[in-house]
Amino acid sequence: MAAMAASSARIVAVANQKGGVAKTTTVVSLGAALAEQGRRVLLVDLDAQACLTFSLGVDPDDVEQGLHEVLRGEAGVGDVLIRVPVDAEHHLDLVPATIDLAAAETELAGREHRELVLREALAPLRRRYDVMLLDCSPSLGLVTLAALAAADEVIVPVQCEMLSHRGVGQLLDTVADVQRLANPGLIVRGLLPTMFDGRTTHAREVLADLEERYGVPVLTPIPRSVRFAEAPATGRSVLVTATGSRGAQAYRDAAKTLAGQWISTSARPRTARVRATTRTAPGPA
Ligand code: ADP
Ligand code: MG
Repeated sequence: MAAMAASSARIVAVANQKGGVAKTTTVVSLGAALAEQGRRVLLVDLDAQACLTFSLGVDPDDVEQGLHEVLRGEAGVGDVLIRVPVDAEHHLDLVPATIDLAAAETELAGREHRELVLREALAPLRRRYDVMLLDCSPSLGLVTLAALAAADEVIVPVQCEMLSHRGVGQLLDTVADVQRLANPGLIVRGLLPTMFDGRTTHAREVLADLEERYGVPVLTPIPRSVRFAEAPATGRSVLVTATGSRGAQAYRDAAKTLAGQWISTSARPRTARVRATTRTAPGPA
């Protein structure tokens, strides 16, 4: 399939300050699905635990330069990229994380315009990709705020269990703050129910609750499957390790739906165009 017509990458933050809700799994699997569909994909690991980096078969201990150096202005995104295969024909590019990314929170605290560092770092590469997926850490700290300020949209994975979406309201409030202060164009693409077991009444009740409670779209749930737990140790996504599984298919479907929405979103002008001014005749000399 041809790459998307958009000349500038769609930047998607995958965020939820709760851990274990499938943020990293979503970035890996959605990224692989988009690459399979012929799109140029950049993944960014914003978590000092470097689970995304590890899941793609890269040992964070072997990484010399990663997002931390980019945020410090010591390296450009293009200098730290690692290309990783999806399958024999497709690949993803990764901005890796290292453990020292943990220092970024305190370093950013002392910086002016800190909310813009990531947006500015990614800007030179936007024409080279169709989509950039930002794998946020389980916090609402400054690095997550920089991701929300850089993003066109945010996807919020939520586990389909009672109590597990208690922090979603706080995250949506944070998104509203970022919209107001730094990034008016940011949209909430939706909550993504993960680890969904449609056979249980409980999971269906949680889904109904999500749909009623927050006033934001709820995307098609990703089914619970043990195949997701097996994938990271192989350094490949579930799209390869269990290519015909329901979980893999769910992320392929999500990728198609999202890409369709990106095209229709980018068909509308995202910022008001500057109107051509009537040239004034030169005045008397
Ligand atoms: P986060 O990045 O939000 O902390 P992860 O993506 O690391 O979450 O996922 C947490 C755990 O849940 C991992 O062990 C992962 O393999 C597992 N997992 C993710 N998605 C699913 C799913 N659909 N079904 C079953 N387990 C899943
Ligand atoms: Mg994670």
